[in-house]
Amino acid sequence: MKMVFSSPDTAELELLKNVLLKAGIRAVEVNQQLSQVLPSVPFQAELWVEEVDYTEAAALMAEWQKPSATGTPWVCPRCGEKLENQFSKCWKCGTRRDAVE
Ligand SMILES: [Zn+2]
Repeated sequence: MKMVFSSPDTAELELLKNVLLKAGIRAVEVNQQLSQVLPSVPFQAELWVEEVDYTEAAALMAEWQKPSATGTPWVCPRCGEKLENQFSKCWKCGTRRDAVE
């Protein structure tokens, strides 16, 4: 098996496990005991999947993390409005983002 995701946030892990399950991928949570064996290591829960499912699972993880990913905000070249990464055009004046580059 292969680790596809790790996080100290078990709620997030649980959510991602469901995302994988919906896609028909069986994911297992690993490592609960680790923090007892090595008390100095911060708790980190992991999601493991079968190797055959790994590529698909990794793609799903990447997809899932995209919206919340801390992308760089951009500034509208026309009106100077500062916009979050997920917006493809300026909400104020309608200038498209790709006009920037
Ligand atoms: Zn604008």
